[in-house]
Amino acid sequence: MTTDSLHDIEERIARAAKLAGRRADQVTLVAVSKTHGADAIRPLLDAGHRAFGENRVQETAAKWPALREAYPDVRLHLVGQLQSNKADEAVALFDAIHSVDRPSLVGALGRAMDRAGKRPDCFVQVGIGEEAQKGGCAIGDVPGLLAEARGAGLPVAGLMCIPPAGVEAAPYFALLAKMAREEGLAGLSMGMSEDFETAVMLGATHVRVGSALFGARA
Ligand SMILES: *Cc1c(COP(=O)(O)O)cnc(C)c1O
Repeated sequence: MTTDSLHDIEERIARAAKLAGRRADQVTLVAVSKTHGADAIRPLLDAGHRAFGENRVQETAAKWPALREAYPDVRLHLVGQLQSNKADEAVALFDAIHSVDRPSLVGALGRAMDRAGKRPDCFVQVGIGEEAQKGGCAIGDVPGLLAEARGAGLPVAGLMCIPPAGVEAAPYFALLAKMAREEGLAGLSMGMSEDFETAVMLGATHVRVGSALFGARA
């Protein structure tokens, strides 16, 4: 049952945080509910969980407005790649955007935020494994993109990464943490079902956990 998984994952986050000399409340568990319907999400809401992640604007627009009416303090995190032409919709729907990765998107989000008068927290996604299909800004371009994002009025909360699959994630998490430190950024969105404890030990402030909570996606 999903609520058992929720408590199990919260405990594992707390243990990993303690090992690293951190407090569990320094880590936000973003429950990635993509592909799952309201029936799967509601037990978590009823258990008091409020931070959820989605990867598609369209799916979020179909699924969340009704749930949000019942649970107005829900916070929605966009964890998937975003097309510039969906910036207005994304700004309207989400409280945080974890996938800011290129100048054209920075521009589109800045204009969308000005129009909406609403400024979701932004994470700059770093292409930490240099894999084009996962999106992310090239490591060398991060300082420039951060400057552009700040200039466009995006509230930059931190950095985000998706490490390559099938290899030890820790070196990638450590590199992202080092980059964030050098940029004076407090937020670190890293760690998924397979590696969130490692991410917490290395400083993650947001872990994005889907299948370990909801079961495998179809
Ligand atoms: C789907 C997704 C997740 C969750 O992945 P799991 O392995 O199911 O925990 C996390 N981050 C991003 C960017 C995703 O697209």
